[in-house]
Amino acid sequence: MMKKEELKKQLEKWVIQAKAASIQGRLPDYIPKLAAANPAAFAWQIKSVDGESIILGDASISFCLMSVIKPFVLFYLLLEIGAEKVFKRVGTEPSEEAFNSLSQLKADKGWPRNPMINSGALALAAMLPGKDAASRCENLRCWLNLQANSQLILDESMLDSVRSVPNQNNRAIAYELQASGYIEDAEIALDTYNHICCLSGKIEDLTRLGMLLIKYPDSNWEDSAKTVKTLMTTCGLYQASKRFAEKVGLPTKSGVSGAMLSIAGERAIIACYSPPLDAEGNSVAGLFLLEILAKKWGELII
Ligand code: GLN
Repeated sequence: MMKKEELKKQLEKWVIQAKAASIQGRLPDYIPKLAAANPAAFAWQIKSVDGESIILGDASISFCLMSVIKPFVLFYLLLEIGAEKVFKRVGTEPSEEAFNSLSQLKADKGWPRNPMINSGALALAAMLPGKDAASRCENLRCWLNLQANSQLILDESMLDSVRSVPNQNNRAIAYELQASGYIEDAEIALDTYNHICCLSGKIEDLTRLGMLLIKYPDSNWEDSAKTVKTLMTTCGLYQASKRFAEKVGLPTKSGVSGAMLSIAGERAIIACYSPPLDAEGNSVAGLFLLEILAKKWGELII
């Protein structure tokens, strides 16, 4: 087993390689504030279940979770209203298409394939309790912060930025779901979804959220946590999920902000923030680091 300092030196070498690889990545252009992100911004944390932690990069940067919120919306709803009701509104099948695919939803006759893509997350956003989008987001935010001891906040300026260029594709998905009867009100679902994607925090907040899936405050949470982790494995990286599951095999969820969260068995959480994305919308550096960690994991245990 490596000593912590030795391990940190090894990880630092990989970070240099990951940053070099990330130069190939692109920032998303459809949300102005994400397009203006600093491509060199970087934070990476590995935190073990017993509290050992290594952070590389800038622990003070705040970033939006974007789609990394999706597993936690699912987790919240599984715990609050139960699997039976949840899986009447969303499926559990992976999709080979992009995270925001309207054609996939149409091919499936309006049935959202899984909660890790936009259609499924919109269907789940529609089930969150609260009178409007802001209060639904606030309920979820408070619940997560309470359970995970995190300090997520709603990034209002990101929300303004999301709204400044109306996402017609997401709107069309929401209306398709309304037409197929899986949501009641497309506009509230869309607004809720936009709010929750703009929840933001620091790298420590992300690892704390991840920890909820392995170190639950209540043993009754286990089945729901397992369901969430399974769906992260099969669907968390969209069309790259299968390829990645074969190579790395850790439940992982990415977001277009460049955030990425992985669950290393029952032992550790790995969280990364690096904005440049590959063509499928996953952080280049985040994937790079996970692949290399998975290969060398045996030698590294902290
Ligand atoms: N809000 C983003 C969108 O709908 C989230 C998607 C993502 O992170 N993959 O485009």
